[in-house]
Amino acid sequence: MAKVLIIGAGSVGNVVAQKCAQVPEVFDQITLASRRLAKCEGIAQRVKRPIRTAQVDADDTRQVVALIESHKPDLVINVALPYQDLAIMDAVLSSGVDYLDTANYESPDRARFEYKWQWAYHERFARRDIMALLGSGFDPGVTNVFCAYAQKHCFDEIHSIDIVDCNDGDHGHPFATNFNPEINIREITQPGKYWQEGRWIEIDPLSQSQTFDFPEIGPRRAYLLFHEEEESLVRHIHGLKQIRFWMTFSEDYLTHLRVLQNVGLTGIAPIRFEGRDIVPLRFLKALLPDPGSLGETYQGKTCIGCIFKGLYRDKPRKLMLYNVSDHRRCFEEVGAQAVSYTTGVPTMIGAKMMLTGVWKRAGVFNLEQFDPDPFMADLNRYGLPWEQREL
Ligand code: NDP
Repeated sequence: MAKVLIIGAGSVGNVVAQKCAQVPEVFDQITLASRRLAKCEGIAQRVKRPIRTAQVDADDTRQVVALIESHKPDLVINVALPYQDLAIMDAVLSSGVDYLDTANYESPDRARFEYKWQWAYHERFARRDIMALLGSGFDPGVTNVFCAYAQKHCFDEIHSIDIVDCNDGDHGHPFATNFNPEINIREITQPGKYWQEGRWIEIDPLSQSQTFDFPEIGPRRAYLLFHEEEESLVRHIHGLKQIRFWMTFSEDYLTHLRVLQNVGLTGIAPIRFEGRDIVPLRFLKALLPDPGSLGETYQGKTCIGCIFKGLYRDKPRKLMLYNVSDHRRCFEEVGAQAVSYTTGVPTMIGAKMMLTGVWKRAGVFNLEQFDPDPFMADLNRYGLPWEQREL
């Protein structure tokens, strides 16, 4: 029985709080804290057992330390924004508590994915005898576990990995993002990047695409992006020659995005407006629908997985591991659309792995560094059943 402190009462925080509450034998006491107390209280009303709520500005390490001291959690789950990662990691180091997040640190003034800031905490976490688990959502998260599983059970050598992410849902809005609009638009407007034969190859944003036949959905066009799990997987999957990440976007979505970019609304450098500085992308975020509100009208499915090519028992093998989720079913269970659901369930499972001691080491780790089997079993158990298909 353990105590958790969840920081961030957004669309993912809502799912994490509800899924943790469904597992009382592990998550004995749950505290949900965020920048605005009212958001925590709104979520607390949906959770089927009492949880505590608190207000915190997680950019301020001292506030997080004070919160930890008063609630005494065994684990801090960070589902606020990537900007807060380092401030929260400093707080858990000071208090001697374990840490888990779903997205790598980014500085607000530079859109760039890299683990170097968080990996730099490894020695300090090891010396303090605490653990950090980085990127325990779906991608990163489940995709890393799929890779560890393929390496352990399905291949003697993995030569290439294509991580494929398809959201075929329709929410009825002309343009909306499925998670925090600021973080999402920063991600997809960065240059694309993939890894081949030991080096990174950079391409113009959204300049390469390919059609994949997604199970239960059909053929959809997906665009090459850089995604953070590629950086850790090239370290931990042995013998790999290539890794790429692909995400589907509709033509309509891309047209809106292009227009917003052309008029400067996706910029992250402040501009002067009516006597004050504003960041155009933050202004745009204020105009766009809250991803947490999309679930009510969302129809359709998501399919996220990994396509592996390599050798197994001296024969070439091509295999896909994937999950298909349904927006409506997720909404009926926790009042959230499938993108928040597929992120929040693995967050709870990662936390469960740590709190039950199944995954336990001192230092900073990515998910593929642990035994994938108990995590894969829990995906089936807690709402994200996975499939395996020979291609
Ligand atoms: P939201 O914007 O909906 O939620 C973020 C929450 O964090 C909001 O409640 C926000 O408060 C709160 N917050 C922001 N800044 C602070 C702060 N300084 N102190 C305290 N609370 C703060 O985002 P999502 O729920 O969509 O995403 C949450 C995280 O999940 C993000 O880091 C995102 O990158 C990650 N993610 C990971 C995925 C994966 O598969 N690995 C997929 C999707 C998302 P307020 O309500 O006041 O704005």
